[in-house]
Amino acid sequence: LLVPLAVALALLFGLLAILWLRYGLSMAGEFRAAVRRREISAHYQPVVELATGRCVGAEALARWRRADGSQVSPDVFIPLAERAGLIARVREQVVAAVVRDLGRWLRANAEAHVSINLSASELRSESILQEFEETFRVSGIDCRQIWLEVTETSLIDMAEARPTLVELRRRGHRLAIDDFGTGYSGLSYLQQLRVDILKIDRCFVEVIGSDAATRDVTGLVIALAHQLELDVVAEGVESEAQAAYLRQRGVAYAQGWLFAQPLPADGFLVFWSSQPGRIAAS
Ligand code: C2E
Ligand code: MG
Ligand code: MG
Ligand code: MG
Repeated sequence: LLVPLAVALALLFGLLAILWLRYGLSMAGEFRAAVRRREISAHYQPVVELATGRCVGAEALARWRRADGSQVSPDVFIPLAERAGLIARVREQVVAAVVRDLGRWLRANAEAHVSINLSASELRSESILQEFEETFRVSGIDCRQIWLEVTETSLIDMAEARPTLVELRRRGHRLAIDDFGTGYSGLSYLQQLRVDILKIDRCFVEVIGSDAATRDVTGLVIALAHQLELDVVAEGVESEAQAAYLRQRGVAYAQGWLFAQPLPADGFLVFWSSQPGRIAAS
């Protein structure tokens, strides 16, 4: 009895493995085709000033909708793009979307900014330098209005990332450390690289309102950012209580569902223009 059972189990696992592989491969193939057809778009999540509630900019987040209408998370397709050597083409489509969707808005609002996310492998290649130089020169967008977000983990290989980031910052881009507090790189990169903004990861915001000990960690992360004289953006703010705590701790900016979800360009511009005293992009 044991032998047929083992055979049946082996067959079952084999079948599951094949299905899983086929699913992964079909997703990879579909993604490749979508990139070729330039179907990667961007949504924009408002960044607000906590003291006043006014919107000061946006974060561009890549979006991919499959043929069946379902959305795939960038947490899935960005690593896929990196493995498939497609990350530069994804970035190029996100940047093109920013220039097309919000270019006029950026040029009309000198104080506003759009953040673009960059992953580790993008910092290793030098092609980004020429590409950005050309794109922002041609579109007439001031580099100071384009912030670049990199995670701590992407800075582990500092020797490779540093020259690119130093040059981008020299041109006026502001550098933000994304998901701050979740990396494994220690803080030594802060001695090797000048950054402008720390984005406190959602996990530190989530625990606000829970027990005092966990909340103290959030307080410490905020204090550290202030000690370093960096601007702080809190990510993933979902409740008024979280916003109040952050405000009281002197955190300047925040993003999160409490204020707005990531929105398509039209929705973002409506959000922006619903704010008092705002210049619309003519
Ligand atoms: P991230 O840069 O840390 O972006 C924040 C994520 O939190 C976004 O997920 C956003 O939709 C989500 N979020 C915002 N507010 C809230 C909230 O109040 N509650 C909760 N639970 N979530 C909130 P998304 O859009 O799925 O992006 C996931 C990650 O994918 C990003 O994390 C970023 O690391 C990466 N990513 C997105 N677009 C790009 C891109 O164009 N290039 C690269 N290299 N990475 C990208
Ligand atoms: Mg980000
Ligand atoms: Mg983040
Ligand atoms: Mg993240």
